[in-house]
Amino acid sequence: MPDGTQKRDIKSLLPDELRAELTSLGLPGYRAGQVFRWLSRGVTGFDGMTDLPKALRDTLAERYDVPCLTPERRQTSARDGTEKLLWRLPDGETVETVLMRYKHGSTVCISSQVGCRMGCAFCASTLGGRVRDLAPSEMLDEVIRTGLVTGQTVSNIVLMGIGEPLDNFDGVVRFLRLVNAPDGVNIGMRHISLSTCGLVEGIDALAELDLQLTLSVSLHAPDDETRTRLMPINAKYGVDAVMDACARYFRRTGRRISFEYAMVRDTNDTPRHAALLAARLRGTGAHVNLIRLNYVSERGLMPSTETRVREFAKTLSDSGVTVTVRRRLGSDIDAACGQLRRADAKKPLAKKDME
Ligand code: SAH
Repeated sequence: MPDGTQKRDIKSLLPDELRAELTSLGLPGYRAGQVFRWLSRGVTGFDGMTDLPKALRDTLAERYDVPCLTPERRQTSARDGTEKLLWRLPDGETVETVLMRYKHGSTVCISSQVGCRMGCAFCASTLGGRVRDLAPSEMLDEVIRTGLVTGQTVSNIVLMGIGEPLDNFDGVVRFLRLVNAPDGVNIGMRHISLSTCGLVEGIDALAELDLQLTLSVSLHAPDDETRTRLMPINAKYGVDAVMDACARYFRRTGRRISFEYAMVRDTNDTPRHAALLAARLRGTGAHVNLIRLNYVSERGLMPSTETRVREFAKTLSDSGVTVTVRRRLGSDIDAACGQLRRADAKKPLAKKDME
């Protein structure tokens, strides 16, 4: 700003806020629409907004920043075409985004924080703790720039990368509204999933917004003893409290919950666990996504055997619980669930990776 304080992040402003700001500078309302559309297309500065008069571009540049992510590394899975992108943030921190290709379009898995403080026993993203929340503009840029760098049209978003989205509640909600804006990236809420380790107040607050996105809850165990061993947050919000919040969410929004269940050998994958989970979910309309744990060398836990996964899935479906077994896309490039981690930032950069 002209008075020497930090410039404001223009890309985190919602369309009506941007309009109010520009109107207060004496500009006509349609300028806000122009600027918003440019930002959503991924311009890195005001000079890229070529249909704005030069004087206006200069005025905006004096007051506002356009925070952008810089691509540092790109890896493509030889197995399934999954792409993992490492980004440098304006303050030098790094995060990762994954793009998965499906027949029906591409899904971008974005990070919501630099690191994570939830401490799940099987996850690499939490190893260094939480450094900071991502700004809405940074999450938005993960989507925009992943599309630009890979040349893919992004049709779905999952908030399942690094971080706990509901631990960055306001930032994430603002991001959702930005990416959903018709004038912008315009991804419908029904094409967005948000995954949480089960922060009850956050689930309730999200329910109040009634956004029509898909809520995924990382359950990973049907009983407190097992779940607390895998997820320290369970000591605060136990299985009953999480399930009650899920029921409230469903009542408020009419959207069924999807439960994530990473199968950890001899830990949460026994017939007893399957029966307990089936009993809890029977008749709730919930959907369970089973995924064999992705091995994270720092963690020491092992994935369940394929037989165990099949038996577990059968117990659930025999009880009328819908269940799918998720493929582990991108595992050859450490892009699979729970494998994203800051240590990647230390690997040397190769120019050719970006081509
Ligand atoms: N913090 C959020 C979202 C990030 S993790 C959450 O907890 O849901 C996205 C999913 O990957 C979660 O279900 C998480 O528990 C799971 N996950 C983490 N590490 C994993 C691993 N090593 N193998 C399989 N899934 C894992």
